[in-house]
Amino acid sequence: MSTKLENCSFCGIAPESANLVLKGTKNAFICDSCINQAWEMVNQHLGTIQKPVKKSPKAKVAATNLLTPYQLKKHLDEYVIGQEEAKKILSVAVYNHYKRISQPKEEDGIEIEKSNLLIVGETGTGKTLLAKTIAKILNVPFCIADATVLTEAGYVGEDVETILTRLLQAADYNLEAAQKGIVFIDEVDKIARKSDNPSITRDVSGEGVQQALLKLLEGAVINVPPQGGRKHPDQQFIQVNTQHILFLCGGAFDGIQRHIAKRINTNIMGFVATSEEEVGIDKDNLLQYVSQQDIKSFGLIPELIGRLPILTHLNPLDKETLKAILTQPKNALMKQYEKLLEMDNVKLEIDEEVLDLIVERALDFKLGARGLRSICEAIMVDKMYEAPCSNSKKIHITLEYAQQRLKNLKL
Ligand code: ADP
Repeated sequence: MSTKLENCSFCGIAPESANLVLKGTKNAFICDSCINQAWEMVNQHLGTIQKPVKKSPKAKVAATNLLTPYQLKKHLDEYVIGQEEAKKILSVAVYNHYKRISQPKEEDGIEIEKSNLLIVGETGTGKTLLAKTIAKILNVPFCIADATVLTEAGYVGEDVETILTRLLQAADYNLEAAQKGIVFIDEVDKIARKSDNPSITRDVSGEGVQQALLKLLEGAVINVPPQGGRKHPDQQFIQVNTQHILFLCGGAFDGIQRHIAKRINTNIMGFVATSEEEVGIDKDNLLQYVSQQDIKSFGLIPELIGRLPILTHLNPLDKETLKAILTQPKNALMKQYEKLLEMDNVKLEIDEEVLDLIVERALDFKLGARGLRSICEAIMVDKMYEAPCSNSKKIHITLEYAQQRLKNLKL
């Protein structure tokens, strides 16, 4: 009698989506991709270098220790709450990027282009967290660069090459590793062109930086000052090839909603439907309709947009999501407080209503999940101060206590 195959017990992939699923005892299943990974781990552990038996194109990709988009998203789920679409898009982009890297050069002349990604989302909704988490999963060097400090070469501020200095530092100056790393450029909206009219004064921190970033993003050999700072003629450089570096850019793009609404309204008027309600536009979250055209209207130059071919958005965090962020991720704030107090042999108990109160205050402050930490600190600080020298083995936070603590908190 043939056994019905079920999802892989390791990565959860369905048998229809895998090349092969094997059955073990007691309803355990494993797919070909997990077998490959396990094989690599065994080799790494034993220090043996063996060639895979069969070298099909798929096996070559698996040999780079590649996780499938499904597996990547599952890992992201452990740290990032909600933002399902962005997590999916990021997982596929990263998967394709590393497949591109592992593609042998000569093959069939089909060159896979870079999948640099632009993430649009309000502050504190998880842009940096997504980038940081994916780099951690892949175990590649990762750095965060702030676009606001960058200026065109020769002006006060930082050259764009310093971004790569940071990546080199993150890789401990291992050039090969750095060249396969991930760079997150934050606040990329702040380098938008300052006005639509070309002006006689140079826009050195806006369009000038966008121009300077083009080379970096599309893949070129860049002279990087190893210690950062300004370039000068006598300096030694490290040549970094950015062809295999994945660039993720993020920004809040404050006010882009106006451009989106304008575009949508224009489109609506062109159709038979006359009102936004009729075509089902969700006016509370216009970011979900963001398109490359809106980014251009906002002030990024088309050449830069072209080098960030994948665009995704993050949703504003609602009450339920914020509450889940407090308790569910692997390193959720509440888990961190519990652990800290556990080290003093103190058990932490927090009433459910306190969590609701924290979330409500975070929504008032409009800082996304970023506000949660300061609110929790305000509630917890006295208890944490007293815990190590107290005889009590339990701390119980009630709604009344939390309200009292938050009375004068302003963010
Ligand atoms: P930004 O979008 O401004 O880059 P961050 O990624 O830096 O925001 O998030 C700020 C804080 O909020 C981080 O501590 C992060 O852990 C938390 N956070 C934000 N969004 C989420 C989310 N969707 N899931 C879990 N934690 C989140």
